[in-house]
Amino acid sequence: MPTQTHPYETVIGLELHVQLGTKSKIFAPDSAAFGANPNEHTSIVTLAHPGTLPRLNRKALEYAIRLGLALGCEINLHSAFDRKNYFYADLPKGYQITQDKHPICIGGSLQLDADTRIRIHHIHLEEDAGKSIHDQDPTRSLIDLNRAGVPLLEIVTEPDLRSAAQVGQFMEKIRQLVRWLGISDGNMEEGSLRSDVNVSVRKSGEKAYGQRAEVKNINSMRFARKAVEFESERQIELLEKGDKVEQETRGFDPQQGITFSLREKEYAHDYRYFPDPDLPPVVLTQVQVQAIADQMPPLPAQLESRFLSAFGLPASDAELLTQERPVAMYTLELLEASGDRATALAKPIANLLIQKIKPWCEEHGLEVSENPVTTTQWLQFLELIAGGKVSASMANQRLFSALMENPEAHPEELAVRLNIVQQSDQNVLDELIAQVMADFPDKVAAFRNGKKGLLGFFMGEIMKRSKGKADPKQAADLLEVKLEAKA
Ligand code: ADP
Ligand code: MG
Repeated sequence: MPTQTHPYETVIGLELHVQLGTKSKIFAPDSAAFGANPNEHTSIVTLAHPGTLPRLNRKALEYAIRLGLALGCEINLHSAFDRKNYFYADLPKGYQITQDKHPICIGGSLQLDADTRIRIHHIHLEEDAGKSIHDQDPTRSLIDLNRAGVPLLEIVTEPDLRSAAQVGQFMEKIRQLVRWLGISDGNMEEGSLRSDVNVSVRKSGEKAYGQRAEVKNINSMRFARKAVEFESERQIELLEKGDKVEQETRGFDPQQGITFSLREKEYAHDYRYFPDPDLPPVVLTQVQVQAIADQMPPLPAQLESRFLSAFGLPASDAELLTQERPVAMYTLELLEASGDRATALAKPIANLLIQKIKPWCEEHGLEVSENPVTTTQWLQFLELIAGGKVSASMANQRLFSALMENPEAHPEELAVRLNIVQQSDQNVLDELIAQVMADFPDKVAAFRNGKKGLLGFFMGEIMKRSKGKADPKQAADLLEVKLEAKA
């Protein structure tokens, strides 16, 4: 890039398409599942046979409301569907049914981090188009209509994003949220999350936005970040040369990591939007919306701040444990079950989950809550460590897997069986220390003459003779007292 005479700021607005995980399509009864053989999910409605009529999928509407509530949107009690007219082979009706004038959700926002809140303009429901497959033969395109009519939510943000990194963060958070809410698998490889990225640049400090370019149909977070980086460099270069940025629609070439012009503004589509006469407006009552709100799970951000403030977990743990709903809910279950020991056990609970239970469950193809050990037992397990009965390393190395293999056992009995209970019994320790001191009188004398470093030697002897079961902290304390006490 040539040297810039001014610093520039990149401004980005996103149009994010989320494929909803309903069983059937948004206006038709055929399956909305991914991965069938081409054109298996093609009812006469999807194929736009004359005389067929669309009928709104109640679940798709409910999912839209869930996301709207989670993002603090206003739920529009009077929304409606419009026809967006254009001709393309993967669009059998010759129009897409979408919400133009009266979308289901208005406003709202997503908090990216403590300082950054991205405002949402609106969220609307629409149907997906089919898929055109361009194979080796340049004289033809193949059409798969399985995807035609799959429900989509389009999240349109205000131009509040300022960097490629924020775009990645935003998409990541939305993916986490739609999975959390159970409304989409958020699977980018299968096209469940696709974005149009609107990019402009302006000189830092300027109030007015620059002219934007829209980069269409990006199907990965990495590509979305790359498209923003490329576009902002391209536009800055243009401005630095004294040229203008054209308002245009661009495509993204993943191989080369560049964007290219698809159509300029004067060739922009006129979609001739009008209300779809086949679909009545969607009229909701506050009571219906409230019923959906009442069934919402606690949100990741709410749980994260609760883990932080109510249980005193470190921020990194709180974030990590609220990435996926099953993990977060199980964390909450353990924390709540620990009652007034919650703050003391919070960090050990987090460690146990992150380092042991979660990897174990992943390996066994289970959700964390499906591990065979009960919450009560996990708390007993942690109390064994907290009380110094079993060392943390012994618990993690041996007791953990033993408990997973004998999920009906009491952790303490298991520790006894494994012979890993630490000797914190003072009589036993006194005895051991006396033995060691008697066996090494010259070292005791040397210690008393100032060779304090010998403490390590004595500790080593004690650990060896107790076969690693002496509670190291207690043994060291007792040992020091005995050594210091001049005979
Ligand atoms: P249109 O009606 O042409 O689709 P919108 O005003 O609805 O345009 O905006 C579409 C998207 O473009 C929104 O996500 C919005 O935030 C974004 N956007 C609008 N203006 C700019 C700009 N100057 N720079 C970057 N993004 C922008
Ligand atoms: Mg638009």
